[in-house]
Amino acid sequence: MDFQLTEEQTIFKKMVHDFADERIAPLVDTWEREGVAMDQKLISEYAERGLLGITIPEQYGGAGLAAFDAILAMEELARVSTIASGPVFESSFGPIRVVEQFGTEEQKRRFIPPCCKGEKFMSIGMTEPGAGSALTDLTTRAVLEGDHYVVNGQKRFISGGGHSDLYMVYVRLSEKKGHKGIGGLVIEKGAPGFSFGKQEEFMGLRGMPSCDLIFEDCIVPKENLVIPEGGFANLMQAFCVERCGNATQSLGIAWGALEAAKKYSQERVAFGKPICEFQGVQFLLADMAMKVEAARLLIYRAAVNAGIGLPSIFESSVAKCFANEMAKEVTDMALQVFGGYGYSKEYPIERMLRDSRGWPVAGGTVQMQRINIAGAMLGRRFNQR
Ligand SMILES: Cc1cc2nc3c(=O)[nH]c(=O)nc-3n(C[C@H](O)[C@H](O)[C@H](O)COP(=O)(O)OP(=O)(O)OC[C@H]3O[C@@H](n4cnc5c(N)ncnc54)[C@H](O)[C@@H]3O)c2cc1C
Repeated sequence: MDFQLTEEQTIFKKMVHDFADERIAPLVDTWEREGVAMDQKLISEYAERGLLGITIPEQYGGAGLAAFDAILAMEELARVSTIASGPVFESSFGPIRVVEQFGTEEQKRRFIPPCCKGEKFMSIGMTEPGAGSALTDLTTRAVLEGDHYVVNGQKRFISGGGHSDLYMVYVRLSEKKGHKGIGGLVIEKGAPGFSFGKQEEFMGLRGMPSCDLIFEDCIVPKENLVIPEGGFANLMQAFCVERCGNATQSLGIAWGALEAAKKYSQERVAFGKPICEFQGVQFLLADMAMKVEAARLLIYRAAVNAGIGLPSIFESSVAKCFANEMAKEVTDMALQVFGGYGYSKEYPIERMLRDSRGWPVAGGTVQMQRINIAGAMLGRRFNQR
């Protein structure tokens, strides 16, 4: 076990650190105020810096690196803005990995390279109005008719909804109940019968588009089927990698809040001295640091053990659950260090606190992670029905 970064990783991390501070930080207030998604010019800069498709094999336009390298990049970006690490998250941990792991050669060549160049984005469509945690209750139906599928149904809370060009949509391919009838197909924006609902107004994550996907007799070429019926386990296995990305969003937010609190505590004066000289404030900072470091190690373990493959359900669920809850606590403690200014929109802490609240729900709730952890630990699958 080695806790040192390689020379390449150190240089890469520093490059992302500077990019986040110099290029991203000045944009964050505008994203927050106007709720706008990042523009194409900035996305191109991600691509130029090799930040898209970090975990994707080189023959499909990626960097062919491990999940750990993508985590280093995400952490640096999410420290400044969780929105800013979105493109790395999507292109290294998102549904593109389902295509990369389980798609045909033709699908990989068609869908993956544009996502690594920043020309296209792929979102994941699992959740429905009546099926969230109980995902196997999903009712969106895809029926094969000749050379195409006809899709009917609705997906909810889809990150990137309306903005992304490609959607990996989990559908029911037959009358078979539960997970047995479920598969996944890529539906392209502009497909006949595919439309979007109104954009969500979330409490945080402003600048991250999200909306319903609506399929009304939507026509999808049969070549777009990536996971055939009965492949639900593959979809879930690929989701272990998504969990590491989600956990890193929490880690980055909390780290950013800790760094801000460290700086503020040395500048803010009370009773004639900087507040960092009060033991009460020191204990807050120390507790924040312990929590951030613990989450970081859990995420790194899940990623390093995965190498260039997929992480284990136990390690990825432990990392996600811990990091998600840690970020809520740490941003709340940072707000306390900032006093009244922490509660003001003039300072970044209240944004970080609101942003931290989204990740324990997205990507499987922390309750569902605990079910995964208990199941993996006890070597059993607990049917929730
Ligand atoms: C910011 C954000 C981004 C998202 N992005 C996407 C996306 O890109 N794609 C996508 O498909 N979905 C996305 N989602 C949806 C998300 O995956 C779901 O909201 C989540 O899975 C929970 O489903 P639900 O909202 O229907 O809640 P429910 O499943 O109705 O759960 C409600 C509550 O009951 C608890 N609960 C349910 N069943 C159990 C059980 N068996 N044991 C214990 N507790 C239980 C849950 O933990 C939760 O606290 C996103 C959500 C958010 C907030």
